[in-house]
Amino acid sequence: MKLFSDDMPFLRGNLHTHTTMSDGKRTPAEAMWAYREAGYDFLAITDHRKLTVPDPSEIPEGLIWIPGTELDYFLPHQVCHVVGLGIREGIENLYSREGTPQDGIDAIRTLGGKVVLAHPAWSVNTTDFMLGLKGVDATEIWNSVSAPPYNANRPDSSAVLDPVFAAGCLWKVLASDDTHFYQEEFARGWTMVQTEDRTPEGILKEILEGKSYATQGPVFYQIEVRDREVTVRTSPCSSVIFYSNLAWAKGRTVLGEGLTEVTWTCPPKETYVRVELTDAMGRRAWSNPLPVE
Ligand SMILES: [Zn+2]
Ligand SMILES: [Zn+2]
Repeated sequence: MKLFSDDMPFLRGNLHTHTTMSDGKRTPAEAMWAYREAGYDFLAITDHRKLTVPDPSEIPEGLIWIPGTELDYFLPHQVCHVVGLGIREGIENLYSREGTPQDGIDAIRTLGGKVVLAHPAWSVNTTDFMLGLKGVDATEIWNSVSAPPYNANRPDSSAVLDPVFAAGCLWKVLASDDTHFYQEEFARGWTMVQTEDRTPEGILKEILEGKSYATQGPVFYQIEVRDREVTVRTSPCSSVIFYSNLAWAKGRTVLGEGLTEVTWTCPPKETYVRVELTDAMGRRAWSNPLPVE
């Protein structure tokens, strides 16, 4: 099965952004223009605990605005931030700081939205906690603002997500910069999606169907799964690594100069595989976790 169409362009977008309507430093209009000028096709504005609706006249031509929010919860040994995408109204009335993360997820779904577990490594989310959440659609395998100079160094959630994937919970993965326009996080990670339907609903639908990948620059042209063989065609990379539920498997790391096509044969007992690319500049890209059984 080929994941991507060979002749359909990808759209580039960020699905986690803050503006002056919460704790970001730029107005919704300024934020949208910054992303459009950086070559983005879609942008979700996800201010804390509210829905920010920009003036339609301020949305730059060619940029698809996706409505969203971010809900936050304090728990005894961790926090939980949940991004809701595609909601059109009403989240302010359904959110309560005293509620649970599951209440927030349920509220987003009640309003017809899609649910993203934000930056689980930054939040110190445990495997048991994540597996207890019902109704999560996707998660941030990379969150740029969860890194220096603004934060300690936990932008990469892949290591905390592999046990979740190993338990059979194959959430889609996003790279988001979580921009507040603080310091250096802007445009340091984004999501690419293939869709003919250039609407918020069309973009979210294809992400949930897995027609997407997360990246800081490297490109997946194609991902093909045939029986237990996974082949990736990519922009030139210096490493291609196949992660799975197995702690060790011979040959899962392929190193070289200008790698553009690599095939992995999943060993017995491998239940999912996800592919991570690194280019010569150290930038990474992440496939979704793919079931192989
Ligand atoms: Zn957050
Ligand atoms: Zn945020």
